Amino acid sequence: MIEDYFSRLEDEMKKCYEIAKEARRRREDPTLEPEIPVARDLAERVERLMGVPGLAEMIREYNSRHSLEETAILIGSEFAKGGIGNFKGIKAVEMAVRTAIAILTGGVVAAPIDGIAKLGEGRNDDGTKFLRVYYAGPIRSAGGTAQALSVLVADYVGNLVGYSRYIPYEEEIERYIEEISLYRRIASLQYTPSEDEIRFIVSNCPVCIDGEPTEKEEVSGYRNLRRVETNRVRGGVALVIAEGLALKAPKIAKYVEKLNLESWNWIKKLTMKEEKEEEKEDSEKFMREVIAGRPVLSHPSRPGGFRLRYGRARNTGFASAGLNPATMVILDEFIAVGTQLKLELPGKAAGISPVDSIEGPTVRLLNGDVLRVDDIESAMKLKGKVDEILDLGEILINYGDFLENNHRLLPPSYSLEIWLQEVPVEIMGLRNVEDPTGEEALRWCEMGAPLHPKFTYLWHDISLEELKALCSYVERNGRFDGENLRIPFDERVKEILEKLLVPHKVREELIIEDAKPLIRSLGLSDELKRIREIPASGTALEAVNQISGFKIRARAPTRIGARMGRPEKAKERKMKASPHVLFPLGESGGRMRSIIEAADKGTVKLTLNVRFCPKCQKETPLIRCECGERTFSMRKCSSCGRITSEELCPRCKKQTSEFSEYEVNLREILDKALRELQISSLKELKGVKELMSARRTPEPLEKGIIRA
Ligand SMILES: [Zn+2]
Ligand SMILES: [Zn+2]
Repeated sequence: MIEDYFSRLEDEMKKCYEIAKEARRRREDPTLEPEIPVARDLAERVERLMGVPGLAEMIREYNSRHSLEETAILIGSEFAKGGIGNFKGIKAVEMAVRTAIAILTGGVVAAPIDGIAKLGEGRNDDGTKFLRVYYAGPIRSAGGTAQALSVLVADYVGNLVGYSRYIPYEEEIERYIEEISLYRRIASLQYTPSEDEIRFIVSNCPVCIDGEPTEKEEVSGYRNLRRVETNRVRGGVALVIAEGLALKAPKIAKYVEKLNLESWNWIKKLTMKEEKEEEKEDSEKFMREVIAGRPVLSHPSRPGGFRLRYGRARNTGFASAGLNPATMVILDEFIAVGTQLKLELPGKAAGISPVDSIEGPTVRLLNGDVLRVDDIESAMKLKGKVDEILDLGEILINYGDFLENNHRLLPPSYSLEIWLQEVPVEIMGLRNVEDPTGEEALRWCEMGAPLHPKFTYLWHDISLEELKALCSYVERNGRFDGENLRIPFDERVKEILEKLLVPHKVREELIIEDAKPLIRSLGLSDELKRIREIPASGTALEAVNQISGFKIRARAPTRIGARMGRPEKAKERKMKASPHVLFPLGESGGRMRSIIEAADKGTVKLTLNVRFCPKCQKETPLIRCECGERTFSMRKCSSCGRITSEELCPRCKKQTSEFSEYEVNLREILDKALRELQISSLKELKGVKELMSARRTPEPLEKGIIRA
């Protein structure tokens, strides 16, 4: 079945590729093959992305002995010593850095190619050369760990090909401090390092973290520095230092330790401070950016919030957590399948799936009854009858999310699977272990087991005074018939029972069914006579452990705060003017960017890729020359107009450009496209104002006509 499904996916994909290839064979497109390579695994994706034959094999080999992160670092040495490809000096470093990012990001984001503009070198006062990595905006998509590791790889490989460390000037350090705080104000940072942290990172990092200007804003204090090329804010620099090196220092330190990278020992100092602050950070972070209309489900670490349970259902996994479907219904379906929840921990957010094998919410009904709801049918029946949600139930989070976020494991909800680990072997095979009666649960306690989770209440959520009040009230006023406990209604006692999540009914009196384990937990006999005295100090949980005579565990030691995220952020992103085709019109298309309107003007001036026809030996912006020959991309000198493939004009040594202004007869191009598609008329065809790509190569109009 599942194989059929996958082979069908593959077959259909192959068909699509065949069609795309055939279309490309018509030679109307900028490239002759579909640009997205098909790759079976990460290693192959990285190889195709980097265009280095043999890279996949090498990645697999390293990865068989090392973790992916170590592979990303170590494979750099192969570039340096020529073990792969034929790259020398700084080019080897560049390939190593891009490859590392590609490996760490799974080869599916723009960061390896667009996140790094280039590598360069600089000089220290003692004449030694150091490396500069120019980060660009799209480095964001790599995430902090890959960002930080890319710096480490640059240093590691740079060292092998003979680069020294970067020795920053005092004013350069101050520039970083100014720039990062400015960036935080105009954009946003997940984590803002203190001035001392930035100073520490910049003074110790052996590579110069440089970048392309990404913002319009300029620094005002430390301007016009000799070794810093721009006064504008470099977003990539801020990201790599703040969200990369500063935020991910603990993770990086692990690899530094393991691979014994001495020049990076400094990063360990950064982590010591980090870990102390981590906890506090956690609880507050997710409450930032609370949005009107999006419910906050529970505050950080507060009773009533989601109870942590470890595990994985078949529909949950990385960055996706499970809730009992009853929780979804009880929350008025505010949380649906796939809703993004911002969580206090371990990560930032999780997509939600229903998992019916974990515990649901506990609610108080309008008639005062308190009960837990574990299935969707019961939850539906309670619609309109719920007065208050006392507890949201469990949230299922897998261990991998803690690992990935480098978060220490926290004690989970006391649940059946943990209880089973603690009971004597004779009990494990018994009937009813999942849903015992109170009698059975107590019998097992006599055999040495802790109290079954079903009867383990949330003693850590009440104070010792509340425990004493409950005990003496039950002792004085309760009636127990061996099965049910009846006590006269009392506001305060009911409130305590609600905090404990003891299910009960409100009739003339409060009725607790199957109450024996509760009575024993309170240290009372069947006659409701005190067996053991309540200690004078300590917590309520410690007290019940003493007076009950058996082990009672913390039922919900970890509560996780949560609020609803912004699911609409995952919506497809559309260009504002919704163009049909990426074809630049400048001002000629009017406000609507209409190609038809522009074509009415006949000849228009457009900024397009400089191309060259080998047959006619002339310059043209067209992909296919008027003579029918395919042209190729070239550069043009802005001062003398010479066509060349060099970055600097061989004649006047000026910078050349890949695009230029051309007079284009749009009418002719549009008519030709319509003729070839055998389309006689067209209502609307929208282009764009200008192209943003490096070469400014437009799409063929035919594509837009088909889309329109
Ligand atoms: Zn030609
Ligand atoms: Zn020139």
